[in-house]
Amino acid sequence: SMDYGPSLEDPGPALAWLQASEARFGHFINGRFTPPRETFAVLNPATGAELAQVSQGSAADVDAAVRAAQSAQPKWAALSGHERAKHLYALTRHLQQHARLLAVLEVLDSGKPVREARDIDLPLVIRHFCHHAGQAEILEDEFPGHLPYGVCGQIIPWNFPLLMLAWKVAPALAAGNTLVLKPAEYTPLTALAFAEIAREAGLPKGVVNIVTGDGVTGAALVAHPGVSRLAFTGSTGVGRQIRRDSAGTGKGLSLELGGKSPFLVFADADLDAAVEGVVESIWQNQGQVCCAGSRILVAEAVAGRFTSLLKRRMARLITGNPLDKNTDIGAIIDPKQRARIADLVALGVAEGAELFQGAAPPGCFYPPTLALGVEPASTLAREEVFGPVVTLTAFRTPEDAIALANNSRYGLAASVWSENVTLAMDIAARLKAGVVWINAANLLDAAAPFGGIRESGFGREGGRDGMAEYLRLPPARASRAEADLPPPVTRPGE
Ligand code: NAD
Repeated sequence: SMDYGPSLEDPGPALAWLQASEARFGHFINGRFTPPRETFAVLNPATGAELAQVSQGSAADVDAAVRAAQSAQPKWAALSGHERAKHLYALTRHLQQHARLLAVLEVLDSGKPVREARDIDLPLVIRHFCHHAGQAEILEDEFPGHLPYGVCGQIIPWNFPLLMLAWKVAPALAAGNTLVLKPAEYTPLTALAFAEIAREAGLPKGVVNIVTGDGVTGAALVAHPGVSRLAFTGSTGVGRQIRRDSAGTGKGLSLELGGKSPFLVFADADLDAAVEGVVESIWQNQGQVCCAGSRILVAEAVAGRFTSLLKRRMARLITGNPLDKNTDIGAIIDPKQRARIADLVALGVAEGAELFQGAAPPGCFYPPTLALGVEPASTLAREEVFGPVVTLTAFRTPEDAIALANNSRYGLAASVWSENVTLAMDIAARLKAGVVWINAANLLDAAAPFGGIRESGFGREGGRDGMAEYLRLPPARASRAEADLPPPVTRPGE
């Protein structure tokens, strides 16, 4: 075996920060951390060790945070786009300075491999703030006459804790909103570190408020009348609940929900590249990725060769200590989630699936898993597993491929592999998905809109579309836009 040298990332600085920081247990409201009241333990999924105690946010905590955001909002919105950009650039710089600590803290809290946290999550977080600083600068030209909503209530999941924060916080701030964000109960630590960084970077108090807690805290945020726009990323079930709870309130809403994204391999594809694509698509972050390509659809002519190449690659994947830079697959977020993965796979086997699995250590880990012989109507082909499990089905013709790919109630992402660009473009246009990658997978960029259709939700994050989500027209102009009338002509002297 190859000698990679010392490969363990040192958790020391992140653990020392946790020990020293008052952020380890309070909510961040109006620029300071509240003293702890009712707390719960945050665990390292790889070891089960307790990392910190954080507070379970009550309705009163949520109310205090919304009030702080309400009183900070007019002043924040009154700044010019350039002035808000300065704050976003300052946040970008401070995030950059703390990138290593944040990456390791994210690994401890979420169980994702450190290579991913360092090379994917943190660079994307930083890029998102930097991109939206630029958006703030051009806001008045790009969106003339638009207004922010006011106070945003933002609820995020545990799979990309800091990146989902960046996706929600950066455009909201660029547009002139203030916010209350609730991180997932499993992974609140980098959000609390971010709060500390925001204070250090000189962000005015009350502009960003963080309230920790579980779904009860989230529901209190959804229900608060002082919130004028909601953004949620998480499961389809909770997304539905939030849509019901906010119906008729006039609150703006975007939902980024689950997926069961297809990964199509055509006969002329570069099969080695496509195998690497599968690794990125379903084994990044243990498959706990909303846009994961969890259904491989491969042309019959190359299915045998592709399957054996994939199995060979799977045998080389290393599942284990997330702090080891050689690790490909880290820990599952929680034993409950691991049990859910195992149950769905067992159900798949009962329904006729044949499994090929790599290795995994004992504990809260799950091996990379390939399920063959999965019928399109079976549970494993339909349900989002949210784990390192992928199905493989052969197709005859491109028409079959499209029919199989679109046979899902979700529509978040798709990945198409072919050396024939004309074929790939034709297929891409016919896939029911918010995002389609060609000869690539899980590519995210702050300048490109991301989001779903069908049961994967609605609304976009990133790009100009993502900015538009955090802006609205004043009522008179909005009704004119709805009536599809041209803008009023104003002449000098009028
Ligand atoms: P979840 O829906 O259980 O929780 C998400 C967040 O919602 C958490 O912060 C949770 O505390 C909060 N919450 C729970 N109940 C609530 C309620 N009634 N009202 C308000 N807030 C409530 O999801 P999860 O298990 O944390 O995340 C996994 C899911 O998220 C997967 O289904 C995945 O597909 C989805 N996801 C989607 C995207 C995307 O961009 N589309 C990104 C990441 C994850």
